[in-house]
Amino acid sequence: MSKLPELFDQNKQWAEEIKKRQPDFFEDSAKGQSPNYLWIGCADSRVPPTQLTKLSPGDLFVHRNIANVISHSDINSQSVLQYAVSVLKVNHVVICGHYGCGGVQAAYEDQNLGLIDNWLADIKDVYRKHKNEIEKSPSEEEKLKRFCELNVLAQVQNTCHSPFVQQAWAEGQELSVHGLIYDLKTGLLNDLDISATSAEEAADLQS
Ligand code: ZN
Repeated sequence: MSKLPELFDQNKQWAEEIKKRQPDFFEDSAKGQSPNYLWIGCADSRVPPTQLTKLSPGDLFVHRNIANVISHSDINSQSVLQYAVSVLKVNHVVICGHYGCGGVQAAYEDQNLGLIDNWLADIKDVYRKHKNEIEKSPSEEEKLKRFCELNVLAQVQNTCHSPFVQQAWAEGQELSVHGLIYDLKTGLLNDLDISATSAEEAADLQS
């Protein structure tokens, strides 16, 4: 049976490198977390949030699923959102999609994939809502890129309309919700300029 030797070896190296730079890092880290960001991203292996932002353990509270979906009926993502906003009191919620997203592409191609079709239903709704705009793009690649961006917009709106975010804003909590997209081909994050820092700004987000 495989024992994953490479993972344990690399983990030991990683911990030693951090301890060399900051001897108390892990002891301090074990005392508690107060991250400033909640990151909601895709489960795709090529989009690792802590690495691509050069942040450290303790900086990001993270939720990842296929195609970075925030659905009001998904108790998992809603629990993460509530804990991050109401308990950890993060200042920023980042919804980060990425071009070349397999989940968005599967929703676009409308194939029959089994259980995952239930998950993709929310993304298919995004397509139906924005079909005209997506189909206006000149090539398949551009259509999928626009669909990825519009999926981020939909998830920013879902996040802004969640009762936990609305309540935080009503209580005067400093909280921003941002929509970003990561480009696999360049390694760069792009700001989609669809952020909201209040219920009023959220209501103004273009649908
Ligand atoms: Zn993806």
